[in-house]
Amino acid sequence: MAITEREVRVRFAPSPTGPLHIGGVRTALYNYLFARQNGGKMILRIEDTDSHRFVPGAEDYINEALAWLGIGIDEGVREGGPYGPYKQSERRDIYREHVKMLLDAGKAYIAFDTPEELEAKRNETANFQYDASTRLQMRNSLTLPADEVQRLIDSGEQYVVRFRIEPGRDVAVDDLIRGRVTIKSDILDDKVLYKSADDLPTYHLANIVDDHLMKISHVIRGEEWLPSAPLHVLLYEAFGWADTAPSFVHLPLLLKPDGKGKLSKRDGDRLGFPVFPLEWHDPKSGETSSGYRESGYLPQAVVNFLALLGWNPGDDTELMSMDELISRFSLDHCSKSGAKFAFEKGKWFNHEYLQEIPDAELAGLFKPVLSAHGVNPADFSDEYIAKSVGLVKSRINFVNDLWDNAKFFFVAPTEYEAKSVKKRWSAEMPAIMTALAALLEAQPDFTGSVIEPVVMQWIADNGYHLGNVMNAFRLTVVGECKGPHMFDITDVLGKAETLDRIRAGVERIRPVE
Ligand code: GLU
Repeated sequence: MAITEREVRVRFAPSPTGPLHIGGVRTALYNYLFARQNGGKMILRIEDTDSHRFVPGAEDYINEALAWLGIGIDEGVREGGPYGPYKQSERRDIYREHVKMLLDAGKAYIAFDTPEELEAKRNETANFQYDASTRLQMRNSLTLPADEVQRLIDSGEQYVVRFRIEPGRDVAVDDLIRGRVTIKSDILDDKVLYKSADDLPTYHLANIVDDHLMKISHVIRGEEWLPSAPLHVLLYEAFGWADTAPSFVHLPLLLKPDGKGKLSKRDGDRLGFPVFPLEWHDPKSGETSSGYRESGYLPQAVVNFLALLGWNPGDDTELMSMDELISRFSLDHCSKSGAKFAFEKGKWFNHEYLQEIPDAELAGLFKPVLSAHGVNPADFSDEYIAKSVGLVKSRINFVNDLWDNAKFFFVAPTEYEAKSVKKRWSAEMPAIMTALAALLEAQPDFTGSVIEPVVMQWIADNGYHLGNVMNAFRLTVVGECKGPHMFDITDVLGKAETLDRIRAGVERIRPVE
């Protein structure tokens, strides 16, 4: 059956060895986009066969992160499905049976070499590799008589099962992004597929068996797995599954924002951005690592940002919702070369998505921030909070930034920025501001658009300097010379509060020499 006629079934197969790295999130996202676009299925398989690297909490973290980002799973540990269990540690019988298939077919063999024996061999032979050129010098089922092999197993000696790789072959990996990559089988070693010590397969065997049994059509994963692909091709062949082997797609690496090399957690610490979707508390070290969610990113922004790290839509469109990404995604536009992790662009996306949030909703997100700064949101109407955030949201990248930009709507200034005072608060300002307060007090309609022309006219009639007067006015109301349009501010604050602030300013601000 041609690949294109096959039902699309992809999997995200993380190992629960710690928090999901942002590169892993991108892999999950591309799998999801590809599955949804093709009406296929997205499978989440937990690859926990490396018992030494298992970290409690990592699996829950993976589920929570994918759910937060809106990356839906069709089959998995939580969702169930027809090809479960979806956690490898629960599939031991399946792997045992498949190891036996390879042993019976002579495609694998049992090896008893202890770590010490292997170490000795490595010291004795430069660049020692366990392969066709050396395997007959080792302690395994190819060199020991069958009854001795059985005796050793029965006596409880630990062993591994190794894949018997024949030299002199060209192994071709067809990758939908990279094309055909061919290597010589001679460079591969007889990989360990199973360890009796923990009765578990290694990553390679479990991964191949599961991809086959779960009817995976496309293996979409990070470039770091490309070196394993030839071995995987040979395993499919050894099992007799070459015809239904999945297509490979190896995604480009995520690179440091400011140089060459793979993005690492240290880059995030050094340059101040998270490399994990959610905050992570390391159960062993007690260390906390920051997450996109806790840093104030919206999931839509993270998704959009990651989607463009290694793929482009073919034109310069940048803002795309999940649905748009699903319809536009294509492997043809995935790049081979690594993608620089331009985290500043991530902030830009967050800014853009924040603009799309209705003011009332943004007000809801701002309430906890207000409380955190000692302002009781219940002291203000929802409408007041919504109007305030609406006036400043074009200036923010994160919800938390709302405080710095909108705090004056909630707390009257008690201090006045010295630089602006020096520049704008000349000796005649107290009198001018007192007159302005009187003028405003006399206005029956305090709507911003109504009082604005009145104030403009008054400034002109008196021959005042527009910039000086308006900035002094702003200084009394805001405490500094920044913020949205002055008459939008007074509109929200209302007459009484505006007059109080002007008069308090006149009382408190002292000209600076
Ligand atoms: N368990 C591997 C990982 O942690 C899966 C690699 C693959 O997708 O084949 O990424």
